Amino acid sequence: MKVLVINAGSSSLKFTMFRMTHERMLAKGIVERIGLDKPLLRYTRYDGRTLCETVDVKSHDEALRIVCRKLVDDEVGVMASLAEVEAIGHRVVHGGEQFTESTLVTPEVKDIIRECIPLAPLHNPANLGGIEACERVFPGVPNVAVFDTAFHQTMPPESYLFAIPLEFYTEHQVRRYGFHGTSHKYVAHATADFLGKPYDSLRMITCHLGNGSSITAVDRGRVFETSMGMTPLMGLVMGTRCGDIDPGVVLHLAAQGRTLAEVDTLLNKKSGLLGLAGVGSSDMRDVLEAAAGANEQAEQAVRIFVHRLVFYIGAYYTLMGGADAVVFTAGIGENSDEIRARVIRRLAPLGCFLDEEKNRASGKAAIVSTPNSSLMAVAMPTNEELMIGRDTVRIMQP
Ligand code: ADP
Repeated sequence: MKVLVINAGSSSLKFTMFRMTHERMLAKGIVERIGLDKPLLRYTRYDGRTLCETVDVKSHDEALRIVCRKLVDDEVGVMASLAEVEAIGHRVVHGGEQFTESTLVTPEVKDIIRECIPLAPLHNPANLGGIEACERVFPGVPNVAVFDTAFHQTMPPESYLFAIPLEFYTEHQVRRYGFHGTSHKYVAHATADFLGKPYDSLRMITCHLGNGSSITAVDRGRVFETSMGMTPLMGLVMGTRCGDIDPGVVLHLAAQGRTLAEVDTLLNKKSGLLGLAGVGSSDMRDVLEAAAGANEQAEQAVRIFVHRLVFYIGAYYTLMGGADAVVFTAGIGENSDEIRARVIRRLAPLGCFLDEEKNRASGKAAIVSTPNSSLMAVAMPTNEELMIGRDTVRIMQP
């Protein structure tokens, strides 16, 4: 079964074409700067052949048509006809409380995605736009929506309710939703497979550490806690986002005369590693390099990043009554042996001990704790696109 996976942003369209029978990636890429100056198509085929060209596209429909042309191109294509695409899986950021699972897209499902726009004003309109572009370009091909929030819907009220008057939840949907659910779900399954243990027998703490970061407690297949909140601003220190902060700070800044837009930019775009490290970059590689070069402010930023992460791991370990594995994934979690080492060295009280040698291997699945650890540390590459592909197949072939 061939499945196209789409992740539509406001000015971008990411795509991955899979042959799901062997879970094989056939082609992937992105159209960037849609509707802006000099839109760009990057395309990579399974054999590593890549191309990068400026394209003239003003809408997601046009971007999708360009992608389609490449997929069936004589030289760089991967199939004879677009009719081979049997289903399309879409990343949708917010499914509110209505979706605890991926679902076939119907007019009613689109209405609910639309109703969730106030909860994800930047993402849901673009995700919906991607679905509607596919409906026009691939008439009759089923679309499946895979929600970032769905995996987290198993959280109990004590995890998802904020301590404000209850009517803000019952009437205004103010609660913790959590994000990165597709990645947390993928790595939780992949870790269970890698360890050769049943998925629903393991208690795992999955750390998705990328530009955006979040951590999730997965208790025998069900999310028990997660660090992002009603929005992706809460929780860990991120590239440019502040993570947990005293809400009184927001009030204080507002009382000083800062506008809502200014505070929004400050906390979402100028904080995190970018704001703390002072090296003009939100990229952990740059911050670590500066820290290694005795830049004390950069070193402090790394320490705060690690401190917050260890704080959550300890809390989740206790809340779940123990854990079998702490899992590191996404750009930083998969690739930075330095960050993994700094975190794992702090986990000795939980029975987790760093294996320096094994931890050096990066970018692939590995147990990076010593064999005598009662809490295992695992590095595990994530693959959100493949998870969306798998869910799409599951929904199409129940
Ligand atoms: P996104 O959240 O945008 O999907 P990624 O998961 O690709 O991001 O993670 C991107 C981040 O991963 C970069 O900001 C970079 O800081 C970090 N990263 C990638 N490789 C390394 C590495 N070798 N060491 C440290 N950090 C890394």
